[in-house]
Amino acid sequence: MLGLFSIYISFFTIDKLEIQNIDVELHVNGDNAYEYIRDQLDIGYRIPGTEERKNCAIYFISKFQEIESNFTYILHNFTTHSTECQNVLFKLNQNYGNIIILGAHYDSRAKATKDPNPLNRSYPVPGANDGASGCAVLIELARVFYQRRINLSCQVWFLFFDAEDQGRDNAYGIDNWGWCEGSKAFVDEINSFYNSETENLDCMILLDMVGGENLRFIKEQYSTSSLLDELFAVGRRLGYTEQFPSNPTTASIMDDHQAFVNIGIPSADLIINFWDNPHWPYHHTTQDNLTHISNVSLEITGKTVEQFIYNNYLNNTANTYKGNYPWHENINILNLELVIFLIGILSICGVVIAVIYFKRKDTYNEETHLS
Ligand SMILES: [Zn+2]
Repeated sequence: MLGLFSIYISFFTIDKLEIQNIDVELHVNGDNAYEYIRDQLDIGYRIPGTEERKNCAIYFISKFQEIESNFTYILHNFTTHSTECQNVLFKLNQNYGNIIILGAHYDSRAKATKDPNPLNRSYPVPGANDGASGCAVLIELARVFYQRRINLSCQVWFLFFDAEDQGRDNAYGIDNWGWCEGSKAFVDEINSFYNSETENLDCMILLDMVGGENLRFIKEQYSTSSLLDELFAVGRRLGYTEQFPSNPTTASIMDDHQAFVNIGIPSADLIINFWDNPHWPYHHTTQDNLTHISNVSLEITGKTVEQFIYNNYLNNTANTYKGNYPWHENINILNLELVIFLIGILSICGVVIAVIYFKRKDTYNEETHLS
């Protein structure tokens, strides 16, 4: 019965949303994104405080400058645990007041704390999926949105976080580091990155582990449900029903979107089941390398975000939300529909009972009459 409920609820919440501009050709290319992961892995392990981490930030700048030589960027330097860290922010279409933040972390984990071989657990994680995949899709989206920038009625931020992945798991981690230090540091100073009088942070979409084989997104519970539901609806409308299943696993994941949720910005985490997943069991192991990356998964993620932006901001000059977000904070549509569903079931039960009652009464009357 519970299963029946969830099938019913998912059907209603995910598939009912109407998607605009669905006929626009999508340009995100998974092969490009795959190469951007290879580039990041070629740089080396992007551990906070290392030359490789710095070189990776320089790599992002060079990729954005390939798109436009004077692409606007801001380096956000911060120090955590006496280590110099750096978030990197690129801004497209600064003439628009409505801002969409697309984020991913670019640090890779210093220790493979979940490696099945205990001897490997002091080695670093290559971070092909955990880190590099989200960054690769951001670069590809920047290339694609730049080509259509004139038709987009929003500003897009591409935000690369440092120091996300050095926290503690399996009882040991990296010397007192927490998770998501980069996004917390960024949000602490968010007012210095935009003008709240003239600009509005509409939403934040985080891409984390979006390039592995057998991609299957979960319904992450800290995410703003209406925003995540729309991303699922867009993905399913594009035919990616395996990657955006109607019965997704649900879980609450500490990730870089949380800091944004906490200050009231609708935010969603596109992430997989990474803790108990026989189809991609490489999280925080030395096996999180290019071998288990799929250009198809990268393309599906990228095209879904591409279509999401077109759904809301392509040729749509009427959209000036100004604090009135289209993605309200977790209006729980699920509960509302559950109530409607229960009322429906009760009504049907009532009718059935009434029919049985009157039938019996008739039979009784007939019997009485006969006797
Ligand atoms: Zn990680």
